[in-house]
Amino acid sequence: MDKIISILRLKCPTCRKGAFLEKQPRPFWSWVKVKDQCPYCHTKFKIEPSFYYGSMYIAYALGVGVMGILSGIYFLVVSEIYLLRLFFLIVGALLVLNPYLNAWAKIIWANFFLSYDPKLAQSKKS
Ligand SMILES: [Zn+2]
Repeated sequence: MDKIISILRLKCPTCRKGAFLEKQPRPFWSWVKVKDQCPYCHTKFKIEPSFYYGSMYIAYALGVGVMGILSGIYFLVVSEIYLLRLFFLIVGALLVLNPYLNAWAKIIWANFFLSYDPKLAQSKKS
């Protein structure tokens, strides 16, 4: 549960205290940039060059999830189905949520490779 909260709050996977991104994502267009290292425990976030290319798989899965949820709500709420309206609803939602989906994809990807270290979380490394 703590891991999910740290992912949603975009905190360092290792200490769950330092910020993971240079700045918080905002709706519509904002560039999601990962910090070089954690400001709290100094864990390097860029493990190797082009490390976050793999997060595109996660972003794809999150996008499909958004599409599935919106489609489900649309089919439950609307009596007459217009697929073109649903298409534009999904495209609009993905455009608005794009920075959040990218940010969550990157931190989920980082959580696959960086594990939580309670020692680093308690005492600040010098
Ligand atoms: Zn950290």
